[in-house]
Amino acid sequence: MSAVVTVLGATGSLGRSAADVLAAHPDRFRVEAVVGGRDAPALAAAARALGARFAAIADPNAHDALRAALAGSGIASGSGESAVLEAVARPADIVVAGIAGTAGVRPTHAAVSLGRIVALANKECLVCAGHAFMRDAASAGATVLPVDSEHNAILQALGRHEAAEVERMILTASGGPFRTWTRERIATATLQEALAHPNWSMGAKVTIDSATLMNKGLELVEAHHLFGVPVEVLGVVVHAQSIVHGLVSFCDGSVVAGLANPDMRVPLAHCLGFPDRIATPVKRLDLAAIGRLDFEEPDLDRFPALRLAQASLAAGGGAPTILNAANEIAVEAFLQGRIGLFGIPALVERVVERMHGRNDPSPPASVEEALALDAEARARAREELLAVNSLH
Ligand code: MG
Repeated sequence: MSAVVTVLGATGSLGRSAADVLAAHPDRFRVEAVVGGRDAPALAAAARALGARFAAIADPNAHDALRAALAGSGIASGSGESAVLEAVARPADIVVAGIAGTAGVRPTHAAVSLGRIVALANKECLVCAGHAFMRDAASAGATVLPVDSEHNAILQALGRHEAAEVERMILTASGGPFRTWTRERIATATLQEALAHPNWSMGAKVTIDSATLMNKGLELVEAHHLFGVPVEVLGVVVHAQSIVHGLVSFCDGSVVAGLANPDMRVPLAHCLGFPDRIATPVKRLDLAAIGRLDFEEPDLDRFPALRLAQASLAAGGGAPTILNAANEIAVEAFLQGRIGLFGIPALVERVVERMHGRNDPSPPASVEEALALDAEARARAREELLAVNSLH
């Protein structure tokens, strides 16, 4: 019997990788629904290629174009948030949660609340609302499988073992394009330089987050919620080759690591096939050809965003939610050329400092509360951005 799959974020780079894995196993998977943001032609193409029964586009203005592109296919369509939620509510065994950003939180939360197996690629479910999200997933009997390469490697390394047997969980960071740059040079980095990630091909937001190492900081928050381990257990090591993605150090001194060529189809196939292994056509790992694997401590002076994220995780409460929201606004400002690269952690730090002190030390009690705090932090970050027009 084939597994029924719904793909949220079908037109993004993650969605395209998922489509690749699904299309390679037509006997194993049947696609029920696909969801996209605003790219109607791409969504229609994905729906047709995957044989989906329903396609939902978040932007209502794109619905006419979607309908036209689906003409004659027999694939039903809808638009707006209600259609996105309808796509999630349709019967499925596995939901690939690949909608980027805060827009992915409600649909993904709906999927876990229905007890689905969720191949989680959206970060905000965990960094914005992790406490409530994981609690609701557990009470609905959902299975949350991380697609992100680092967490997926840790999940695989962990096997059947429990947090109590784990001494350290280490996420690797490629170090991004500025790994070897001086602080002075990073300060004047251009947008093009920041977007030139050495190993991974990803969207602009996560690529900038990789250049500042904020991405790794957000991943620590994710790991904390996914694996139920405290901040002291979590570590980061810079590993330029992006071959080792995550490591688990057990109480007996054994270390188990997850290795693969950097290709999102590897963790996607792990999640889609779970607990089985399914074939992918990705380039096989040839360690002798790679020759060496290098590791180094992250430099928190050149990459202060990582320090900020660690501090927010340690502070707890709403701090990680505020950090993530402020970072979104800061990255947006960097992409628009309004601030330099160090303007990103500078803005984030101001917003966290100004907002977190007066917050309840307990995390947002529900996903809606987390989203409200997120919106408040974004508004605050926009104000700070206007007030300080020379952050750099
Ligand atoms: Mg990652």
